[in-house]
Amino acid sequence: MTLPKYNIKCANLLDKYGFKGTFYIDVARMYKAKLIEDVKHISEWNEVGSHTMTHRNLLQIPLEEVTYELYASKQELERLLNKECLSFAYPYGGYNKNIIQEVVKAGYSSARTTTHFNTMLDPDPYRLSVTLSAYPHVYRDIIKAATHFHLPEFLVKPYILKSGGILRNLFLINYL
Ligand SMILES: [Zn+2]
Repeated sequence: MTLPKYNIKCANLLDKYGFKGTFYIDVARMYKAKLIEDVKHISEWNEVGSHTMTHRNLLQIPLEEVTYELYASKQELERLLNKECLSFAYPYGGYNKNIIQEVVKAGYSSARTTTHFNTMLDPDPYRLSVTLSAYPHVYRDIIKAATHFHLPEFLVKPYILKSGGILRNLFLINYL
């Protein structure tokens, strides 16, 4: 949840077109931004997954803190939403083999990375990738991936980036 206030908007937009989503929530930020009611509302027709307690890069903290982040956020979301929390997203996409082991032990059935532009099914449920991701700091990744995969114009052109409150359309085709 990098842009918390857009989650409701996003959930409503998905609903309008008959889609459901998985919203990964970092619990401390949810409390700080007073978004408990929003998250409860979203969970009525979407999946809510964990995005840790404090959104630290799991590669940069000791393993016992990784364990805390995984268990505490899962427990807290389950208590709050009265539903099982089975999905997890790695903050900043940071993970390795040991972290995956902890994710499995904590009882999650899947985990999302920040690998973009995948249009295939993921063989490993703990290394899920995404087709598109929209947040400012992936700008360079987008260009890199778009160039690497020779993405067609229709896929890349409508890519929208929200940055500093200004909505910008990125015409990445220029970089292909
Ligand atoms: Zn995040």
